[in-house]
Amino acid sequence: MSEAEASASAPLRRIKLSDQIAEDLCRRIARERMEPGQRLPNEQTLMQQYGCAKGTIREALKALEVQGLVAMRSGPNGGAEIRPVSIDAAAQQLRRFLHFRRLDFAQVYAVRRELEVALGLAVVGRLDAEALRGLEENILACEAAFAGGEHARGRSLELTFHDLLCDASDNALLGFMCRFINSLLRDLVEFQGGSATEYAAFGAHNLESHRQLVSAFRAEDAEAVGRVMREHMCCAEHYMRRLDASFRSDMLSGR
Ligand SMILES: [Zn+2]
Repeated sequence: MSEAEASASAPLRRIKLSDQIAEDLCRRIARERMEPGQRLPNEQTLMQQYGCAKGTIREALKALEVQGLVAMRSGPNGGAEIRPVSIDAAAQQLRRFLHFRRLDFAQVYAVRRELEVALGLAVVGRLDAEALRGLEENILACEAAFAGGEHARGRSLELTFHDLLCDASDNALLGFMCRFINSLLRDLVEFQGGSATEYAAFGAHNLESHRQLVSAFRAEDAEAVGRVMREHMCCAEHYMRRLDASFRSDMLSGR
């Protein structure tokens, strides 16, 4: 092996070992049912357990930190503390994955339609008085934004209504997927066209759908929730097309 080849392959070997250790630490966290707030063994102990240098352990811990699975704490009792993976960290990865695929509006709505109906049905009977009040307050705030001509704020609040339904769901996967799509719509949609009248009509449609949804949730009427949500999603897609909405291409930097 030439010197150049040796120096090119050496870092690869080192990265590979630290990745293996990072992977093994993930398995340990799962196997030992470690919870957020608990700490991994300190560096010295990990060096002994894996029989490797401090640099390799640090690299492995750094990889877990970048993934958002641990946070490094300093001090005498310092070390890698396990933290819950945030929805933002998970969403960021998924956006990066989607960045290199061509995701169009119709595809997003094809998925959103089905998921929002499923989410609506999943939370029937799960919204307590406080959650229902939260939805009603959101409708009022949304109304005020549209009345004041603050369309971007109204649009963001409109999506918050759907986030509140995610909060009420006990299905973490469904909640995550719906919230992820809401965040794409909130951060990445640009409107190219459309008149003020059309924006107002879109806003009015959203508010009316949300009012009907709250009534159906109050009555715990699953049939009405499914019907209103399906219509709402179809109309929303239609309006987005009329307003010439499109996704900004950059999903790498996020916002
Ligand atoms: Zn809505």
